[in-house]
Amino acid sequence: MSRQVYMDNAATTRLSDEVLDSMMPYFKENYGNASSIYSLGGISKVAVEESREIIAEKLGAKKKEIFFTSGGSESDNWAIKGIAEAYKSKGNHIITSKIEHHAVLHTCEYLEKKGYEVSYLDVDEYGTVDLDQLKSSIRDETILISIMFANNEIGTIQPIKEIGKIAKEKNIVFHTDAVQAIGNIKIDVNEFNIDMMSFSGHKIHAQKGIGGIYIRSGIRIPNLIHGGGQERGKRAGTENVAAIVGLAKAFEVAYENFDERTNYIKGLRDKLIKGVLGSIEDSRLNGHPENRLVNNTNFCFKYIEGESLLLMLDMEGIQGSSGSACTSGSLDPSHVLLSIGLPHEIAHGSLRLSLSEYNTEEEIDYVIEKLKPIVQRLRDMSPLYYRAQGE
Ligand SMILES: *Cc1c(COP(=O)(O)O)cnc(C)c1O
Repeated sequence: MSRQVYMDNAATTRLSDEVLDSMMPYFKENYGNASSIYSLGGISKVAVEESREIIAEKLGAKKKEIFFTSGGSESDNWAIKGIAEAYKSKGNHIITSKIEHHAVLHTCEYLEKKGYEVSYLDVDEYGTVDLDQLKSSIRDETILISIMFANNEIGTIQPIKEIGKIAKEKNIVFHTDAVQAIGNIKIDVNEFNIDMMSFSGHKIHAQKGIGGIYIRSGIRIPNLIHGGGQERGKRAGTENVAAIVGLAKAFEVAYENFDERTNYIKGLRDKLIKGVLGSIEDSRLNGHPENRLVNNTNFCFKYIEGESLLLMLDMEGIQGSSGSACTSGSLDPSHVLLSIGLPHEIAHGSLRLSLSEYNTEEEIDYVIEKLKPIVQRLRDMSPLYYRAQGE
């Protein structure tokens, strides 16, 4: 097979060998139901509870505050709909931002149809929310603030500690979608004043379809799935033991040499940014120049369209994305790029290359080398480019 350079780690990541190895015994010999009382069940039960303990410890949480779900989307849905229902008697107002993942935005839109009111905070040109606007949006009826830790498209990291502090002072529940931040940033839920936090396995080299949520004890949240007593009765259903074990292993691997690994990825990111902006005219970096995820790059190339760029990069074995995986396939420009103030025609020309520890310096060189002529070829075919040249 020809060369493959995978740079779409914000969409999903490859399962790591350590994770797969940790899961295998739970597919083969240890297949007992964690709720059964014979010893095979006991092995599964112990594995699930040890996994919960590992994850809790990494996040500075208590074991009983960690709940397993099918992933980030489920955790976001549970947090937002759950708080909306449980705190209805206190109020009907929710604050979020314009650049959230669709799992948050579409859930909020759903609640608006049910009579809730939602304030969508603006972001500045770098994608950062404005704390003053947050403060002035708070009402007596505000029951929830949900702001993502770091953006999946442009990588901007939000001032989570400050947001959490504001929420705490006003006695409002604070939820954060940390799907992109986990493994990139060391998060202690107490230090950051977080009440609820969503995470997902497949963004950190574990399996698709497993994730979890931190729920601070004392927060009232209705049961998500009614049935058996799993997840303290809140989310019934036989535990996905192998996936849970793999998720905990992914946390362990990420934290084993956290600083060394994230510094390595950051070095690759900065080399890529410098290489692209330095070699391609009329290119720009989207998102915050410093306050961004170590693995995120997002570029716009004037006069060209993201989709064609992706296809041509794919022919060179380079996998990236334009907008987010969920929005690509439609011709709508990304809501995130529009929110940072980019005009439609520029927001169409974006390219996100998101890295992981599996990428190499040599791959970065390869991408920079391939990108320049591809952008030029597309520009040569673009009427917009011709018009601009003639001016
Ligand atoms: C990927 C992602 C999700 C969705 O997680 P799934 O586990 O795929 O459901 C939610 N929020 C953000 C920020 C993401 O990047």
